[in-house]
Amino acid sequence: MRTLLALALSLVCGVSAASAGTQWPNSAKAAVVLTYDDALTSQLDHAVPALDAAGFKGTFFLPGPKLADIPRWRAAAAEGHELANHTIFHACPASNYSTDRRYTSEAYTPASMLKEIEQQNVLLTALDGKLTHGFATPCGQSKAGGVDYLEALRASKLVTYVRGVYTSPEDLRASVAQMDPMHVPSRGFDEQVTGAQLIEFAKEAEAGGGMAVYLFHGVAGDYLQVSDSAHRELIAWLAAHRSEVWVTTLQGALDWAKAHPNPRR
Ligand SMILES: [Zn+2]
Repeated sequence: MRTLLALALSLVCGVSAASAGTQWPNSAKAAVVLTYDDALTSQLDHAVPALDAAGFKGTFFLPGPKLADIPRWRAAAAEGHELANHTIFHACPASNYSTDRRYTSEAYTPASMLKEIEQQNVLLTALDGKLTHGFATPCGQSKAGGVDYLEALRASKLVTYVRGVYTSPEDLRASVAQMDPMHVPSRGFDEQVTGAQLIEFAKEAEAGGGMAVYLFHGVAGDYLQVSDSAHRELIAWLAAHRSEVWVTTLQGALDWAKAHPNPRR
């Protein structure tokens, strides 16, 4: 009897876990968030126009931007794209790429990293007028001088969320309202990715009822670039499936999930 009860319970729990996704607006099956890192000019040249043509808003994680690009970042924010924090100097471990030693994450402390994040918030507020911002860790790692600074960042309340760089299959089924905002998953793609492969990620989220957060760098330029055609293919698919997937900013998706915490049945 006890075994039967346990079996029944596990079946019930299994079913509820599989359908525990978030209640998205207009009965959409999933949320799709397009994020772009490193304040790259190719994003302004190619991603923003593609998003604008479809009426979609993206999320852009800015380290210190180029001076010449400031008017276009400001315009992007004014039309509803999300600008978010990616530190100023994008300090990564020395083993990631060569740079002046003082701009490697080993040369920081958690306190100096938080100071830099705080100062980048000032620039973002000057660009978009918003008082709060999300954050993405440079190179997807959160160590400064060998010490993880995520909990200090959480306690500081300097940022509203932290986007990471890895998405598991479970993440695509997860209730976004219950997700730790300091560990928001995302998925990056290699340079040869096709439009069909990009679309597959959105379909996985659609099947799971959760949220797919794309991580892009260059679009038809700069580095770690996806091609303009693959990116446009994804946008076209999302535009054709508006009723099934909700394309929004990362802050928009997290805010919605928090305000609608009841899982889908
Ligand atoms: Zn970056």
